[in-house]
Amino acid sequence: LDLRRAITESPQEFVVFYQPQIDLCTGKVCSAEALVRWEHKDGHRIGPDHFIPAAEATGLIIQLGLKVLKQSCIDFLIWQEIGMGIERVCVNVSMVQLLRSDFYQDVLDTLQQTGMPAQALEIEITETSLMKENDQVVQVLQQFREMGIQIAIDDFGTGYSSLGPLQSLPVDRLKIDRSFMPESAKDKNDLALISSVIGLANSLALEVIAEGVETEYQAELLIRSQCQMAQGYLYTAPLSQENFISWARNYSQ
Ligand code: C2E
Ligand code: CA
Ligand code: CA
Repeated sequence: LDLRRAITESPQEFVVFYQPQIDLCTGKVCSAEALVRWEHKDGHRIGPDHFIPAAEATGLIIQLGLKVLKQSCIDFLIWQEIGMGIERVCVNVSMVQLLRSDFYQDVLDTLQQTGMPAQALEIEITETSLMKENDQVVQVLQQFREMGIQIAIDDFGTGYSSLGPLQSLPVDRLKIDRSFMPESAKDKNDLALISSVIGLANSLALEVIAEGVETEYQAELLIRSQCQMAQGYLYTAPLSQENFISWARNYSQ
């Protein structure tokens, strides 16, 4: 398997890109999501949808996920050092990782080795994987949260039909799936849905971030619905560390 070769023998082929998350109140970049890419030695770039499922199925995600986590911490500390004013980096974590008994210690070790403050790390877990939630997962999430790590539910809206069960989960933030982003003011149902999800989440003291924001119309709608944050091509696609830093500098000027 080529994926195994790359992850075990040539991990530098995996590069972490960052997509900014915008605070809709201040208009500033408040955080960024880490998204891995495979810069294959043959010269082409492969998106995560094409290798994350295989990495999960083979268990290689354990090694890859740790690499992404470590790189994200290192890159975040550079943002901090140069005074970019970014509060957090968000890392996608697969259920395969969460269910491993060593994962908690691995995260602790990574924070310690890099000097990363726990408060500056957010873990994203998809809603559908949380639905298969068991007590062990809730317990690990709780432990992370006690350390100060933040937890976000990714692709929210694709799984649960109600927000009720969320109350019992240790969660700070919901990421509304991009399929809920209304394309135009004509999408009356989508409009009602998205603002009611935001309202309900806020009433449960959860922050909301909308993903897949591509138009000004969507951004304005989110502001009106009191959504706290947004992420999407409207601002920029995910960027390499270098390009992310220069983009963020220009953006906040
Ligand atoms: P995700 O976590 O839902 O990440 C958001 C995806 O939407 C990213 O695709 C991003 O590039 C894309 N996107 C951002 N803004 C827009 C927009 O305005 N419109 C549209 N149409 N798309 C937008 P990407 O980078 O290809 O990642 C795909 C998925 O791969 C991620 O979905 C995540 O589930 C997974 N993934 C990426 N990196 C990692 C990782 O390090 N670990 C794990 N376990 N999964 C990862
Ligand atoms: Ca995500
Ligand atoms: Ca998502």
